Formats: sequence, C-alpha cells, structure tokens
Amino acid sequence: MSELAGQDIKFLPGVGPKKALLLKQELSVHSYEDLLYHFPFKYIDRTKFYAISEIHSKLPYIQVKGRITDIQTIGEKRQQRLVANFTDGQGIIELVWFKGIKFVKPNLKIGVEYIVFGKPNEFNHRINVVHPELEEAKPNKNKIQAALQAFYPTSEKMKAGFVNSKTIHKFQEGILNSVNGKIPETLPAYLVNHLGLINLHDALWQIHFPENTEILKKAQYRLKFEELFYIQLNILKKKMKRKILYQGHQFIKIGEYFNTFFQNNLPFELTSAQKRVLKEIRKEVGLGKQMNRLLQGDVGSGKTLVGLMSMLMALDNGCQACLMAPTEILATQHLETIAEFLDGINVNYALLTGSTKPKDRKVIHEHLISGELQILIGTHALLEDVVQFKNLGFVIIDEQHRFGVAQRAKLWAKNPIPPHILVMTATPIPRTLAMTLYGDLEVSVIDELPPGRKPIQTVHYFENKRQEVYKFMKKQIDLGRQIYLVYPMIKESEKMDYKNLEQGYESVASFFSPDKYSISMVHGKMKPAEKDAEMQRFAKGETQIMVATTVIEVGVNVPNASVMIIESTERFGLSQLHQLRGRVGRGADQSYCILMSSYKLSNESKKRIETMVRTNDGFEIAEVDLKLRGPGDIEGTQQSGIAYDLKIANLAKDGQVLQYARDIAQSILDKDPLLEKEINFTLAKQVKRLSKAQFNWSVIS
Ligand code: ADP
Ligand code: MG
Repeated sequence: MSELAGQDIKFLPGVGPKKALLLKQELSVHSYEDLLYHFPFKYIDRTKFYAISEIHSKLPYIQVKGRITDIQTIGEKRQQRLVANFTDGQGIIELVWFKGIKFVKPNLKIGVEYIVFGKPNEFNHRINVVHPELEEAKPNKNKIQAALQAFYPTSEKMKAGFVNSKTIHKFQEGILNSVNGKIPETLPAYLVNHLGLINLHDALWQIHFPENTEILKKAQYRLKFEELFYIQLNILKKKMKRKILYQGHQFIKIGEYFNTFFQNNLPFELTSAQKRVLKEIRKEVGLGKQMNRLLQGDVGSGKTLVGLMSMLMALDNGCQACLMAPTEILATQHLETIAEFLDGINVNYALLTGSTKPKDRKVIHEHLISGELQILIGTHALLEDVVQFKNLGFVIIDEQHRFGVAQRAKLWAKNPIPPHILVMTATPIPRTLAMTLYGDLEVSVIDELPPGRKPIQTVHYFENKRQEVYKFMKKQIDLGRQIYLVYPMIKESEKMDYKNLEQGYESVASFFSPDKYSISMVHGKMKPAEKDAEMQRFAKGETQIMVATTVIEVGVNVPNASVMIIESTERFGLSQLHQLRGRVGRGADQSYCILMSSYKLSNESKKRIETMVRTNDGFEIAEVDLKLRGPGDIEGTQQSGIAYDLKIANLAKDGQVLQYARDIAQSILDKDPLLEKEINFTLAKQVKRLSKAQFNWSVIS
C-alpha cells in the first residue's frame, strides 16, 4: 500500500480524533487502508424507484421520488412525533420521525423534490416510513453514481457517535479520492492477467461504489481470491520451508514388529480406507523428511489401529513412539487396547499420566532415556520436560483439537531430529477449514467404517414420549445392553445444569428400581478419580445406565452400550451431538440415539436435529455445522483467530475459490519454493507482511 493508505484515519477529512477513536475501538480501523478493507455486508439497488401505488409493507425497503405536501408535529413532549405527507403525484405515504425532530423539522422543505429511502410499514391502513433517508433529488449532486448502495457493519456505539453506515460510505469516498491512482497492485501482474482478475484499484472502488452487480461480483471475487490465496501461499510456503530445513527419520523398512503383528495378531481384515491411509503414512515416513499429518476419521472408523501400526513401523526402524490423549480415561483405554492388540509380541510399553506414582514415573523416565521403553502412552504428562526419549521417532496425538499449538510444538522438540507427527481427530473438519487451519499438514481420511456395523438409528422425541422412552430403555437393558443418558453442561449456568442432571437422575432412578438396576452418574463437578471409578463401573458392565453430562463426550469405548439418549438436544452443537452419538454403535448390536427436546425449537435447532436424524456421516454433519454456525464457532478455530481475520471470504461458502487459490499458490511454489524469483517479488513482500500481521497461528504440530 502507498504511504497515503497507511495514514492514520484521524487525518481523513470529516473524521477527527473522536470518530477516529470509535473506528479504532469498534472496528480496529487505524489507517486509511484499514477502512478501505472494511467491506460492505450488503448492497441495495438504488436504480429502482417505486411508484407509491406499488408500495406495501412487505417490501424490505423502497425508494421513491416525490414532494412533501405538509408537515405536522403530533402529540406532546416525549410522545411527540413529526409526520410529513409525501406524494409522488399519485399516492401518498407518511414520513415519520420520533427522534431528532428539532434537527429534522427545519430542514424539510415543502414542494421540493426529494428521494426517500427506507422500510415501509403499515399503520392505520396507511403506509409510512419511519426515520427515512431523505435527499434532495438534484441531478448529479454526487460525483459517484453508484447504482448499488453499500451498507457497512456498524455498532450501536458507533451510531451513537454519529458514525453510521452512511458516514462510513462518505469516508470511503474520501479515501478513494485521495489515494486515487496510488493504490499499488498487491498481486503480480502475471497473475492478474493470467487469471483474468480485475486490478486492486478497480476492485476497491467497485466494492464500495459498484456500478452494477456484474462488476461488483468481479470485485468481490478478486478480493476473496486474494485473501484466500495469500493465506494459502503463506501456509504452503511454511510447509515448503519446513521440508527444506528439517530432516526427518527415514523409516526404510517394514520389519518384524509390523509383520508379526500383521500376520499373527491382527484380528480382522483392515478396511480399504485403513490400508490406504497406512500406505500414505508409510510412503511419507520413507522419504527422510518429517511427516506432519492429520488423520481424520469418524468415531469408530479404526484410527487407533492405524496409529498403532504406524508406531510399529517406528519400532522396526529403531525408534520409540508415543501416543498422547486428552484425558486419563482415554489414555488408559488406549493402553488397554494396545495391550490387547500386542499380546504375545515383545514390545515394551507404559502409561504415563498425572496420577502415575512418582516411583513408577522415575522408572519410566529412565527406561525412556535408555531406550528400553518403546511405546509411551499418556496424557499431557508426556509434555513435561523431564520426559526425555532416547530416540523418539513417531508421535500420535489423539483428538488433536483438545491440544493447543504450543503443546504440540513441545513434542516436536523432544528429539534432535523431529519425530513424525500424526494427529488424529474424530471431529471431522470441513475441507475448507482443514485447508485453512491445518493447511500445512498432509491430510489422510478414513472414510469407511469396519464391516458389519449397523448404522445407528436416530429419532427425535418431545417430552410426551418420555414414558415410552423409559420402556424402551428397559427392553434394551433386558437384552443385556447399556444406556447413556446425557444432559447438557454449559459453563454459564452450571448450577442449573447440575439441577437438571440431578432431577434427571431422580426421575430415572424412580422408574428403574434400585434392586434390579444400577445407575452411574458422572459430571464435571466430580473429582477425576471419582469420575474414573464411575466410568469404570459402567465400562465393566456393573451399571446399566450412565447418567452424565458431556464429560463423556470424547473417545470412551463401551461397546456394550447401545442406546444414547440426549436430553435438551436443542442446547447442543451439531458436532457435539455427533460425538455423543459416536459413543454407541461400537459393538455388533443395533444401536439407537434418541434426541429429546422441548417443544420450542429455533429454526437452527430444528435443522440440527433434522441433520442428526437424517445422516450418520460426520463430514456431512460438519459441513452443515459450518453453514449454520459460521467458521468462528467451530471447535479449534477460536484459538487460531482465522475466522475473524477473514474480511471478505467465507469458509462456509467460498470453498471453490479456496481450492482454486490453494492450487494456484501450490503451482507457484512448485516453481519457486521460497519465492525468491524476481517475478514473485510482490508475492514475497505480501506474504512477509501478512505473516507478520496475523498468521502466526499457522505453525502447527
Ligand atoms: P476410532 O479411534 O477411529 O474412533 P477405534 O480405533 O477405537 O476407532 O476403533 C473402533 C473399534 O473398531 C475398535 O474396537 C477396533 O478394534 C475396531 N476395528 C478397527 N478396525 C477394524 C477393522 N478393520 N475391522 C473390524 N473392526 C475394526
Ligand atoms: Mg479413538
């Protein structure tokens, strides 16, 4: 940007220190440039004029040309309103003001031609417009003849400080006029030409003052493309750089551990998705470069097994491996699973969590350093500095969205040659988000469930079906199954939630007599040890019903549980519902998910419930979730800030542009990995600028 564009916004005529402060506080607009990149959120066609006879109150807005015939102030003091009759020669509407009468009244001129703009309402069988925009219909009064009027996001505070959408529009005009001809292009000419984009100068003019819809679309496309393109270029360049800078363990052979396991211990055939992913991993760890890979796969798709077999590859090549899970329960389950899988194979593994006794800890530390211990499974405890390996070659991070970037970085640093990293998640992320959030990771997907699983049947009931639900539960328990009953848990109203949970427990307890049935309860207020004990009781089949809050959300594996009942479904997010449902359907039995809700449902809740009933496909659910909530609310995106930094592109809607931008970025880097060629000078400069400004989050793993 030119120097002028970097200029403090307070110097723009009409802004001044007070408004400048507002713009800073409310919009983070500091400079001319910042304001130029504060884009309209909607446009209204100002070429259309209505005849008053056409107007009805269902129209979102109207624009009419006409004259005021008379003006009256009606009512007393606070109740006062100003009413002007306005006619286009055929019909009459009323223009009404409740506020600012003092300022408005003296400026209204009878008989002068005005353009009126606003939302029509019906009152006493007459159409009126409250607080209309009013402007004298002088021809060519404005220099800029935009056909579409831009509307800008503003806040209440801004409006109170006399900065509304219209003011911002005026500021934009001021800036554009002063920087006119001096906005340097931010994409290299070869790209602009080759891709048929409009240049930055035109794009910025047209986004604020569009001549028509067609050119507006071009302006939007150009700016969206650029925004997504630079994010991708930045991420992919970092990835390239990492590949150039860092060596990685080269796993050249598939050896005894892997082969023995495959031949003797693997209790079933791998799914073709598992085979494909294992091949992808094997290929990459053979290259001598560090692997950073995201493994996505729905709950129950068999990620753990893929993880285990990858670790065996590391062992075969003289390296150690570790697996980090977000909770103690999960880590313990992983240990048990792995122990079972490795039965009869001579592998040394151990569990390290917060509750590992100091004495055992010491042994683990020693055996890690000596190399005797080959696989370490654990929680955050793995990250501690005292945990040092002899030669760590492979790291698995389960349910990665629970860990922060910094924590992952710690694992990186555990070995002079950084270990290969596989992050596993059962929360499918829509492609667009994955490309942006984890764009520097390779992605593998297990998109197939092991054979023989029956799809979970999901139904939605209102309160009136409760008795039937309880009867159904009884039947299932009589068949030997177990049941989860989950209540929402929202931090702001923990007390209320706890009450809900307790009442729910009592209600269930009164229906299921204690001499025949036993019920577990787990909630966030319990101590971890208590929680664990209660979970274990359920896992062992000692209790038939688990009444719980969402603490059971992730990872727990009780294959005999076949019914998931969710209370107040409307209070859960989609991905959470999907996670919860994933707790059942893990065994051979037909499983069920019952979504209970109140009668009063918002459209969004309805859509969420419908989606859950319609599909079991986590990716499809993730896409709906992204559309409903927007990327800012999707788990994992908050800490990255990415969703908020996007000024014009929308990850829920602009998937195609994103893919295109990424492909273009990659093709440029293929020829010039570090952007050193002269032709890419602009790119290098922009990437540097952007990565300083906002993209520090993109260093993942
Ligand atoms: P995830 O971690 O992806 O949710 P798991 O790895 O826990 O899934 O696998 C779920 C269950 O499916 C486990 O009991 C596992 O042993 C089993 N499993 C994994 N792969 C297969 C397969 N190819 N065929 C049959 N069962 C499998
Ligand atoms: Mg798992």
